[in-house]
Amino acid sequence: DLNRLDRVTETLWQIPPSGAMRVPGRLFANEELLRDMDDKVYEQVRHVASLPGIVGAALAMPDAHSGYGFPIGGVAAFDPDAGGILSAGGVGFDISCGVRTLHTGLKTLQLAEIRTALADRLGQKIPAGLGREGHLRLNTREIDAMLVGGARWAIEQGYGEAADLDRIEEGGVMTGADPDQVSTLAKTRQRGEMGTLGSGNHYLEVQRVAAIDDPVIASLYGLAEDDILVSLHCGSRGLGHQIGTDYLKRMLAEAPGHGLRLPDRELACAPLASDLGRAYLGALRAGINCALANRQILTHLTREVFAEIEPAARLSLLYDVSHNTCKEEEHAVEGRRRRLFVHRKGATRAYGPGHPSLPEALRPAGQPVIIGGSMGTSSYILAGRGAEQAFASACHGAGRRMSRQQAKRRWTGRAVIEELAGRSILIRSPTLSGIAEEAPGAYKDVEAVVTAAEVNGLAKKVARLEPLIVIKG
Ligand code: 5GP
Ligand code: MN
Ligand code: MN
Repeated sequence: DLNRLDRVTETLWQIPPSGAMRVPGRLFANEELLRDMDDKVYEQVRHVASLPGIVGAALAMPDAHSGYGFPIGGVAAFDPDAGGILSAGGVGFDISCGVRTLHTGLKTLQLAEIRTALADRLGQKIPAGLGREGHLRLNTREIDAMLVGGARWAIEQGYGEAADLDRIEEGGVMTGADPDQVSTLAKTRQRGEMGTLGSGNHYLEVQRVAAIDDPVIASLYGLAEDDILVSLHCGSRGLGHQIGTDYLKRMLAEAPGHGLRLPDRELACAPLASDLGRAYLGALRAGINCALANRQILTHLTREVFAEIEPAARLSLLYDVSHNTCKEEEHAVEGRRRRLFVHRKGATRAYGPGHPSLPEALRPAGQPVIIGGSMGTSSYILAGRGAEQAFASACHGAGRRMSRQQAKRRWTGRAVIEELAGRSILIRSPTLSGIAEEAPGAYKDVEAVVTAAEVNGLAKKVARLEPLIVIKG
């Protein structure tokens, strides 16, 4: 309830420390977005704020809703030298789930004639939905190579171009990955799942740039009105999920031995300075590479479809961002540079202009922050501002306003598809019930979300996108 929050500004709220909280909680949202968050979000923020070694504040982005242990839309940074921890629930089960956006070189007018063929062909070629296998099967040795090599591994296998790597966080390869810390079960689950979207919220979308908010940054990003883009949203599939499951169990079992008293079982964690902490970090980084390789393979399949249907198309990466991670980064805290482990769960890194890790062409503009809306509303490209108060983070989507169950009671898949068809949005999906769960009305108002991020100086609006074709898992 809002009474227990201190209002700092119109769009920033604070939960003062009480009980076991070591730092305050901070929520970036206007009043309406705050009301869209379930009460459990506040409780989860308070619990995160009580974890050992947390720095600054436990944060909730404007798209936040409650999740497993940490809210989705949660950000928390931990200091390894102050007893800081790693939490499997703080990363999320779909390790390194993220979005990649591609330029196509096409304009809206060029799409009109090929739209249906493109939707059909993408629907056939992009493996989507629960349990749908990909076009390649990997043996254990290949899986290990993939877990170390990420998108670079995929490119070496023929999926994509070396130039793609520059436009992926970490240059497409997360260093420090340790496949030995990933269970055989996790690897087995992944054998047939490379190059697949997965279910529900994951998508491949053909979009048009409907409006430019910042012409200078847009031109640095290579974006103009009526450009056709492709965005794909997916993660590390069965492998990431199994890593999360495996380590959650171990973190729970070993917590007492590490002297950790957990406010919530779902917050099971391990000290960064422990064998289990190091093991999880190695597995997590392997999971990140799996997601990067997965998006790379899907990019290749998408290029093949475009080449078939519109040879004039030339698909190049704008950027690839992960929104379920924990990464070791340097941040200024009260004027001092500190090495921190930043958990971002359903939250995007948002480095500001000049950050050395950005590719040269994008560096003056700041990091592209890719925001999904829903299959029937706008999505956004923002530019990161590197806000210290948020450890250079921003929102990742519109965020759910209601649960999947609630959405299914409210809408039918067929009605949603018809409504979208009326607005010339083509949907291809293996399931109808999945579509109901993903009805646009099940998500928050994306304009309000990105405005709250912008007003708080987390990220700046660059371009608004509208969906034309949606391939849904
Ligand atoms: P998550 O990673 O939390 O599952 O989803 C990220 C965000 O993607 C959601 O908060 C939602 O706003 C957005 N999203 C879900 N489905 C779609 C879709 O079909 N198209 C677009 N553009 N965004 C979506
Ligand atoms: Mn995901
Ligand atoms: Mn995601």
